[in-house]
Amino acid sequence: MTHLAAPSADPPRRIRRSPLARPAAGSRRTFTLIELLIVIAIIAILAGILVPALHSAKKKARQSLCLSNLRQLGQGCRMYQDAYDEFYPGWLSSLANDYTISDPKLFVCPEDPDKENNKWGVRSANRHVNSPDFDSVKCTFDGYAPYHKAWGPPNTEDVKHVSYIYEFCAGFWPSSWGGDSVADDGGNSRTVQPDSTGTWQSVKRAVLSVRQDWIDKIPMIRCFWHADIQRMDPIMNISTQGNVYLSKSQWQKGTWGGQ
Ligand SMILES: [Zn+2]
Repeated sequence: MTHLAAPSADPPRRIRRSPLARPAAGSRRTFTLIELLIVIAIIAILAGILVPALHSAKKKARQSLCLSNLRQLGQGCRMYQDAYDEFYPGWLSSLANDYTISDPKLFVCPEDPDKENNKWGVRSANRHVNSPDFDSVKCTFDGYAPYHKAWGPPNTEDVKHVSYIYEFCAGFWPSSWGGDSVADDGGNSRTVQPDSTGTWQSVKRAVLSVRQDWIDKIPMIRCFWHADIQRMDPIMNISTQGNVYLSKSQWQKGTWGGQ
């Protein structure tokens, strides 16, 4: 009699070892539920890990795309400079006139929230830049007026939106600033002045004539869209020589304006 009771004690153990051997048992359903919960928990944990990773991978991809834009625009500026006796283009969009950049997408940063609106950069600047050098930023966007007539206007025909700040532009250097203060090779501060055109380009070229060692450091094209301005993140630049680097907004002072 005690021998006969043994088989009824065995099945639960067998079910645990091989669930498929005993379908439709009540304990089988419980087991499946636990299994399901474990799978759901694992998926939730993996999602928790992977979603932020995916988000940051997408962000990196957008940054790479922007970097590629900066490189191609920088190259376009250097080709223009070779062709026009050391002058840089008056506007980034001037590169689309007859020159090197035929794809309008190259003027647009993928992080720029205005990129679909065909608005000009000044509106991007108004919304995004919040620093005491705001005016300087604003007038270095394509689409800002006034500009010197010798340079002509930005090319709003072929290029509908420009996301980038262009430091060598034909926008007027604010007359209230006078010149730009530069430390010369001997460490002495001196002021360089714009020429009769009064443009940003003339001031930047004057800076480079005093500090030739800045040729690969002075920002030419800048993207503010990858940085959190409030957190004072550094921003992405390309120099006149084509090297890409991060810097502060007022790069030559090493600080954000007024900080
Ligand atoms: Zn960008």
